[in-house]
Amino acid sequence: MPAEHRVEVALPVPVFSTFTYSVEDSPPPPGTRVLVPFRRDERIGWVTGPGSGAEDVPRVRPVLDVLEEEPSVPGDMLELARWMGEYYVAPLGIVLRTCLPSALSDSSRDFLTLLGSPDQAGTPRERRLLDALAGAGGTRAVRAFRRALDMGSLWPEIRRLSARGLIRHATLPPRDPPTRSRKVVRVETWLSDLQDRDELFRRSPRQREAYGLLESSGGSMELAHLLDQGGFDRSVVGALEKKGVVAVSEEEVLRDPFRERAPGEPGRHVPTTDQARVLDALKGALSESSPRPALLHGITGSGKTLVYIELLKEVVGRRGGGAIVLVPEISLTPQTVSRFRAEFGDQVAVLHSALSDGERFDAWRQIRRGEKLIAVGARSAVFAPLPRLGAIVVDEEHDGSYKQSESPRYQARDVAVVRAIRTGALCVLGSATPSLESWQNARSGKFQLLSLPHRVGGGALPPVKVVDLKKLWRRGGDPGEGEGRETRQGTRGGSRASGAGKQAGEGILSPELVEGVRDRLRRGEQVILLLNRRGYSNFVQCRECGEVWQCPSCSVSLTFHRTTGRLLCHYCRHEELPPARCIRCGSTELSFKGMGTEQVERVVAETFPGARIARMDVDTTQGKWSHHEILGRVERGEVDILLGTQMIAKGLDFPRVTLVGVVNADVGIHLPDFRASERTFQLLSQVAGRTGRGPLGGEVFVQTSLPDHYAVRAALHHDYEAFAERELGERRNPPYPPHTRLANVVTSSPVLEEAAREAERGAKWIRQAIRRRHRGVEVVGPAPAPIERLHGRWRWHFLLRSASPGTLGALLLAFQEGFNVGGRDVRLVVDRDPVALL
Ligand code: ADP
Ligand code: ZN
Ligand code: ZN
Repeated sequence: MPAEHRVEVALPVPVFSTFTYSVEDSPPPPGTRVLVPFRRDERIGWVTGPGSGAEDVPRVRPVLDVLEEEPSVPGDMLELARWMGEYYVAPLGIVLRTCLPSALSDSSRDFLTLLGSPDQAGTPRERRLLDALAGAGGTRAVRAFRRALDMGSLWPEIRRLSARGLIRHATLPPRDPPTRSRKVVRVETWLSDLQDRDELFRRSPRQREAYGLLESSGGSMELAHLLDQGGFDRSVVGALEKKGVVAVSEEEVLRDPFRERAPGEPGRHVPTTDQARVLDALKGALSESSPRPALLHGITGSGKTLVYIELLKEVVGRRGGGAIVLVPEISLTPQTVSRFRAEFGDQVAVLHSALSDGERFDAWRQIRRGEKLIAVGARSAVFAPLPRLGAIVVDEEHDGSYKQSESPRYQARDVAVVRAIRTGALCVLGSATPSLESWQNARSGKFQLLSLPHRVGGGALPPVKVVDLKKLWRRGGDPGEGEGRETRQGTRGGSRASGAGKQAGEGILSPELVEGVRDRLRRGEQVILLLNRRGYSNFVQCRECGEVWQCPSCSVSLTFHRTTGRLLCHYCRHEELPPARCIRCGSTELSFKGMGTEQVERVVAETFPGARIARMDVDTTQGKWSHHEILGRVERGEVDILLGTQMIAKGLDFPRVTLVGVVNADVGIHLPDFRASERTFQLLSQVAGRTGRGPLGGEVFVQTSLPDHYAVRAALHHDYEAFAERELGERRNPPYPPHTRLANVVTSSPVLEEAAREAERGAKWIRQAIRRRHRGVEVVGPAPAPIERLHGRWRWHFLLRSASPGTLGALLLAFQEGFNVGGRDVRLVVDRDPVALL
């Protein structure tokens, strides 16, 4: 009997421990992907080390298959994943699944390919397997196969047959036909001589035509495209093949949609004195063995991107290392990407959300093999497996999208800092409006603070003018009231809303703003208008009794969308037709209140007839490439007015935008969340930064009913430090980050009482644990969550506060191990370092 070894395997299941399995040969190294039986199924997991307590685990099932020669998770990544699992209180297997492309954790992606002949089978079972494989055309997914054959586990056979070279077992990347691999027709022999041609195609004009088409497109064409273009039958190509003049082959294409754009010119810019000073400091840090992370505070338009690029030239070009650049998904625009592409060409792998699983896997593989040295991407690019990581750049480090909203609830900016410190790489966090956490770290010396206080080329930040909405409304009436008439006419859902008619635009766009826009249009310049609220009307209310229409599954009001004529829940996407009468009092007097981007679009179109308008919000950017399409039009000057939600506030660099208008700055400022002011300040500063970027200058109008709010005031004066000072004070008592660390524990259940009861029990457990062992943590609550109900589940929560991250972490791990949630269908979520408490 061969010696048996035991290994621990982490599986992507919601269980905190690892699982013990046996292997016959020497155990594969940690980080290796294996297939194991799990309950009545099989799962892909990762070896984490030798089996623990081998003797006292009586019955250990064997590993079914070792899926790779070399571990997909290198040692440093495994350590990082362990840290994440502990810090964010998530099972290691789930963390590992998050760190890797999904193709690697899906067992339906394991394929068998027939190499020998079924006659070479040794046993009847092997014979059946080989026959079935031959019958399936030579290649088939193991999973589908097993189901079809119904022979139980096939792994013993698979192992024997692959050892004998009769089949190949491989994890193929998933095939997405249009992008992954395609059939290509190639001309085999160029028939230049007319005689040949006449001879060859004597009675087959279609073949001649097809051949001609191929020729005119340079000798090769995608098969589907050729058939489509000429309306040919596949048999036409078949006949050409038979004549030996064309060949059809399968071509693997690693297609990256960003590649289709011209990469642009490599920068000819010479760093300014400011940029050079920052670069000197960063290059100095690169030479240290464990460089301190840097916070680059550079105002909008100060040229942060050039600093990143110059830094990467040093890391990649001169030192041969690798680098990661994280950007918020929304700024992953062709503009950003082409700046890196122009400089580094094919060394850049772009990891964006529109990649298919296969494309993502390809990119990952190229990075892992060292074929690409720079990974540019959103949140999850922080896990790019670069062999010699030299630097991680986190652009717009304050952005909320760096936090993942499902388990593991990690903050990519913080993971970047941890990963860089552990690998001796340099981490650079950049922003015009740094998060208070990073600002505090810079003040305390944990981060090195570098700043770019001036715009490139000496341009000034644009002057910001405030329009007091209260005065505007006194002049023109509350905008909420004017909408009834328009809505009734525009609604396909047949709303009976009524109301006094008002001039379009009144109470929405101030005369100052209208005048400003008109002026720009006259000069052929561009305008950006921001309103951070989608839809047409924010809510529907009964004029008689005040009832507000709510989602049946969530405790939030429904938003009216005019394009669809429906009321929509922005949380769970529930849709319904607008009501004809009030459900409470029966009144037909309903008003549509609070404007959204759809309504602004209509008002803008009416106010500026002839202007070319583009709207950019969640509703107009459902398609994979719609962002790029809209921004491309702006860039080419085909749009005069770009209006939208926060999507348009970030990273855009359009020198012809000379006016930015904020339609209503107050949206979001009153949310019951400790970051509401910070978000308002960031949004206003960022959108203001979109203008004044060229020689034409720029100007900003901010409409607000809170002109004296400190977040608004600081944004008007472009004064980050004043805002940070004030906000740090606001968060001192009661303490909020960065003065303390937080964890939000949320329970939810379809039954209100159960959510409440489990929150009470959890908080009680924690209070006891604090008394016994975990002093230094404070419990706030429990109480109903600000959004009490979501997706049909009632929500309660309590907050944990501690000055010490270690103490908080230990308590959370103990809680996760020791506390069992009771009740039917009660879920418990621990959100460490939450970005929002809603
Ligand atoms: P930020 O990201 O800090 O807002 P950008 O990196 O977008 O700023 O730079 C703003 C503009 O200045 C861009 O158009 C960029 O090409 C230009 N720029 C940056 N550095 C220089 C330089 N050293 N010389 C000339 N132009 C520069
Ligand atoms: Zn009513
Ligand atoms: Zn809902």
